[in-house]
Amino acid sequence: MRQILGTVLLAVLVSVCVAQGKPAADLIITHAKVWTVEQAQPTAEAVAVLGERIVAVGSNADVEAWRGPRTRVIDAGGRLLLPGFNDAHVHFVDGGRQLDAVQLNDASSPEEFKRRIAQRAKITPKGEWMEGGDWDETKWPDSQMPTRQLIDDVTGDTPVFLSRYDGHVALVNSAALKLAGVTAATPDPPGGTMLRDAQGNPTGILKDAAMNPVAKVIPPLTHEQRRKAALRGLAHAASLGVTSFQEMDNGDAAETYADIGVFGELLEENVLTARVYFAPSVVSWDDEAKVGVRRAFGSSYLRLGALKGFADGSLGATTAYFFDPYLDAPGNRGLLSDQMQPPSAMRDRMLKADAAGLQLCTHAIGDQGISIILDFYADIVKQHGRADRRFRIEHAQHMAAKDFDRFAQLGVIASVQPYHAIDDGRWAEKRIGHDRASRTYAFRTFLNHGVRLAFGTDWEVAPLNPMLGLYAAVTRATLDGKNPQGWFPEQKLTVAEAVEAYTIGSAYAEFQDEEKGSLTVGKLADMVLLSDDIFTIDPVKIRDVKVLRTFVGGKAVYTAESLQ
Ligand SMILES: [Zn+2]
Repeated sequence: MRQILGTVLLAVLVSVCVAQGKPAADLIITHAKVWTVEQAQPTAEAVAVLGERIVAVGSNADVEAWRGPRTRVIDAGGRLLLPGFNDAHVHFVDGGRQLDAVQLNDASSPEEFKRRIAQRAKITPKGEWMEGGDWDETKWPDSQMPTRQLIDDVTGDTPVFLSRYDGHVALVNSAALKLAGVTAATPDPPGGTMLRDAQGNPTGILKDAAMNPVAKVIPPLTHEQRRKAALRGLAHAASLGVTSFQEMDNGDAAETYADIGVFGELLEENVLTARVYFAPSVVSWDDEAKVGVRRAFGSSYLRLGALKGFADGSLGATTAYFFDPYLDAPGNRGLLSDQMQPPSAMRDRMLKADAAGLQLCTHAIGDQGISIILDFYADIVKQHGRADRRFRIEHAQHMAAKDFDRFAQLGVIASVQPYHAIDDGRWAEKRIGHDRASRTYAFRTFLNHGVRLAFGTDWEVAPLNPMLGLYAAVTRATLDGKNPQGWFPEQKLTVAEAVEAYTIGSAYAEFQDEEKGSLTVGKLADMVLLSDDIFTIDPVKIRDVKVLRTFVGGKAVYTAESLQ
């Protein structure tokens, strides 16, 4: 009976709407320079939104027809309206934590580094660890890695685990080594190195898997700490126009599951202001498989079904895995990650994960690391047949010339972080030489070969601000100011190409290109209004462009103070 009444009511409602013509929009943005990222209609003046979706894109007059008495109308004043940015590779809770941690990245000397750590130690509650930092010794006069002795006397009993900005190296103090039971007698683990002094004592610098014994004794984040970090990160993302992000596991699936719990809670409370896709560790692929989760499972706000794996380390830590040795570390070709010990273990789990319908996102930076993962992907296609899998390689930093074609043929997505190019570009050539550097962050070569790009930041490794990523891709001007015309300028992208990679490219990488990534009728109304037109200003100024308004599903999640 109730159902029949419901149906009758619905029929009455529909007839009312029909009688009045089409329903009115909830939101109209007029007098904008709309860049849609939709090939069929690249530009427009206005957009109308009903509920959480776009119902019209066109001229001011076209969209005016959607105006009703309760429609909110925003006059954009001729400013640029884009689809919201989708960051294809983040470590979001780490990033949220970083917003509140000791800042060491711009410390320009070991003395300044020490001073900031001393200050922080004073306010760190007894028994708590000091973490974060994102230090970068390449910004110091002698570019020497720091040691535990540098910070021991200012940190005392407070255990310290300070990450290098690339996340592949940590500096720990003596208190931390003691808690972890790491001594001169501790051997280097597979996939990791511990720097030692002449007597064999640890210097406090731990690379890749050598960080694990210490990381293991750090108490996990409490639910409350995680929640706070997520909320802080969400506010930051909204202020930067990031309306979607893709969370990449850092090697511990339990961490990612705990994050999923927190984001689920925020969704329930209706305070989730960005859309999230989760990629837990490939090592735990069976967790998702056994409950039947497949690629891109979930709602528009919260999805999972991807897996993150690691092939190798990083260039900064000289652990990215190359065919040929590093120039500044003779005999060293880098390291395969602990997940690749042996490589066949990774291949096996990838085959099983693919059979379960899960998406593979694999961190691979060195040319041989990338090549091995392409071999595995090729094996999957050979054994399981062709399908729409959207394999990803995260970073895809240093390509072997022979692998571009293979990358394209296998339909692998290059999930890249343009900011890393202008950062590592300061010193990469010294480490790997001109020839290999010419295929480093080779965005143009990827496009020429028909490879799809997805842009992201790797936040907290790099800043979350998409303007810096667009600036980096378009100018390739290294952060040290030494390449104003661009580092390997032939790899520069146009603004349109960079925006595409940051919107529809990232959406494609998470199987959501039918749902978002362009301002198209029927898609989710995720939009960002910018202070300046990045298509016409001097590209150097793109990094200073600000976000004025951010909308997710038609809801305003950020409005700049100047407009309030
Ligand atoms: Zn990452």
